[in-house]
Amino acid sequence: MRNDRHDRRLRFALIGGGPGSFIGALHRIAAELDREIELVAGAFSSDAARSAQAGAAYRIDRARAYPDMATMLQAEAARPDGIDFVTIATPNHHHLPAARAALHAGIAVMSDKPATATLKEARELAEIVASASAPYALTYTYSGYPLVREARARIADGAIGRVVKVIVEYSQGWLAGAIDSKQAAWRLDPERAGAGGCIADIGVHAFHLAEFVTGLRVTRLLADLGSIVPGRALDDDSQLLLRFENGARGALLASQVMIGERNGLRLRIHGDRGGIDWRQEAPNMLVVHHGDGRTEIVQAGDASLGTDAATGFRAPGGHPEGYLEAFANLYRDFAKVLRGTAAPLLPGISDGLRGMALIETAVHASHDQRGWVDLIV
Ligand code: NAD
Repeated sequence: MRNDRHDRRLRFALIGGGPGSFIGALHRIAAELDREIELVAGAFSSDAARSAQAGAAYRIDRARAYPDMATMLQAEAARPDGIDFVTIATPNHHHLPAARAALHAGIAVMSDKPATATLKEARELAEIVASASAPYALTYTYSGYPLVREARARIADGAIGRVVKVIVEYSQGWLAGAIDSKQAAWRLDPERAGAGGCIADIGVHAFHLAEFVTGLRVTRLLADLGSIVPGRALDDDSQLLLRFENGARGALLASQVMIGERNGLRLRIHGDRGGIDWRQEAPNMLVVHHGDGRTEIVQAGDASLGTDAATGFRAPGGHPEGYLEAFANLYRDFAKVLRGTAAPLLPGISDGLRGMALIETAVHASHDQRGWVDLIV
């Protein structure tokens, strides 16, 4: 890692994010929001011409839009102003090779989820991260929302008592029929997505959110996964019953075939003295139920917000912030890490490993109709 990172913006390269892609361009916006970080390079596509096209669209130096990642790492290492980290925004099967190449070159990694395509790969990656000289982080985007962090802090402070019930749902409808899109094609292909379809795409977000906010680990699960649309090799619909380490019961629903649903991520956690309710589509409001019957609506700008949440907003209350700002909070955390300060809320490889264990355990337990099984990482 380069030594002068305190006095300048951090420089990053995007892997993926080529023409017509989804999340790469949003990583670029989120990373640059606070002017702590700037996009300077990339291997934006597996096709050299398309990588060059993306580089031009991102307005980076033409010479730094590379045909592939290996060429990029070599060229950037030779520059005095080379990259500090890469963001990996390629389909899942490419996450391990990309992270491995970067970390072996001493370059930090911000990877999109799931950590890898398989649990075996995630274990390999965990070993690489453990011995790497540069940090690794994972964009479980929803953990960047200020009011998600507020819910987490309140639960840790005992605001709802002992957690007894967790309901997390993530409902989408975009895969309800046969669909001809690049994003759908790889997500439904086991070679590129891994063992899980919907469970790996959005179920894993719901799972991370539930563990992140409760501070509890899921220890057992009962999974029922399937594909509603005929001919699919991977699940497009799933429900799981969960048991947490403190004995709390829970349920996780993730589906991409619920017509009319867009990005319906909702988390409800109930304790023996209260509860919380948060929805991604109205992220600036956290409902807190108190044991004495009061319901409190917590919003951006409230004087009651703790530090984790209050510092996560950029505009005064009443000015809606959302997905991009939540995403940017993860980059702000990552910038801190790269400058030598801890950022304990930023997801990392242990979260990635747990997500991969969730996906594979659920897929196999459902397929074999094994009923309740242990979640072993
Ligand atoms: P996409 O198909 O829209 O884009 C993938 C991009 O990667 C394309 O530009 C493609 O050309 C490029 N690519 C493929 N192979 C490459 C290679 N070898 N080298 C360089 N570039 C290559 O996919 P997407 O929807 O943007 O998803 C990408 C990743 O982000 C997936 O792992 C997905 O799970 C994750 N994702 C996360 C979130 C989130 O909320 N954090 C949201 C969407 C997607």
